[in-house]
Amino acid sequence: MQKAIHISGFFSHRCNWKPSSILISSNSKPFSSLFSPYPFLKPVPITTIDSPISTVRFISSHASSSSPSSLHFAGNVRNVKFCQWCGGQTKHDIPDGDEKLRAICTICGKIAYQNPKMVAGCLVEHDNKVLLCKRNIQPSHGLWTLPAGYLEIGESAVEGAIRETREEANADVEVTSPFAQLDIPLIGQTYMIFLAKLKKPHFSPGPESSECQLFPFDDIPFNSLSFSSMVVTLSLYVEDIKAGKPKFHYGTIHKRPGTSPSDIHAYTLDHHMHS
Ligand SMILES: [Zn+2]
Repeated sequence: MQKAIHISGFFSHRCNWKPSSILISSNSKPFSSLFSPYPFLKPVPITTIDSPISTVRFISSHASSSSPSSLHFAGNVRNVKFCQWCGGQTKHDIPDGDEKLRAICTICGKIAYQNPKMVAGCLVEHDNKVLLCKRNIQPSHGLWTLPAGYLEIGESAVEGAIRETREEANADVEVTSPFAQLDIPLIGQTYMIFLAKLKKPHFSPGPESSECQLFPFDDIPFNSLSFSSMVVTLSLYVEDIKAGKPKFHYGTIHKRPGTSPSDIHAYTLDHHMHS
């Protein structure tokens, strides 16, 4: 089974909050002009410094996407050297009417378009605690994660999240609501995280986990999480719980240029909106 590979980002957790270091892009568009796949979502105001969500920082997505780190973009079309349909060699060119460099088969002429992958997972709530799994596989071996992984063809995001939770934590769960959609453009991934509850109070490590454990909200191991997507998801969740109840969040995770992939706290969360 494929497993998600993640990048790190600029951590915007409250403990690191420094108002003087807020990054606001000069070319950021007003939220009202941003495309929103969720009309019911509210943009996060950048002036409410005292709100829990004020820890989210804003930086130019243009600056991020044009940074040297984008050289590591997962969708490097030049890595596609052979056609997936006929095995013929590809050439790399911009097709008529297109704007992007594509891998084009020199035999059958088909174009290998590269599109993001979806990662689905569950944030399992039980007795005011959250279920985390310690990864027994690379990347991020030995670090904690929510049960999550790549969606398979033929299953919905909810089905994938339930399956991943069963595989990684031997836990049978019922999904109760969507919680977060987080895009990571640099590596071509979109996370869809659902809130869920245990159907039975049983769980144990699956083959990809060395340990599964319920963590109280105030005891989540933020410095031992596997990926920045997990830092973002759990930070938003804890903030929501302390504010009353979980919302639904949309956001884009951008890695801070020049930071190590293992630095899970070095990211910006852009275009953050919530219900
Ligand atoms: Zn071909």
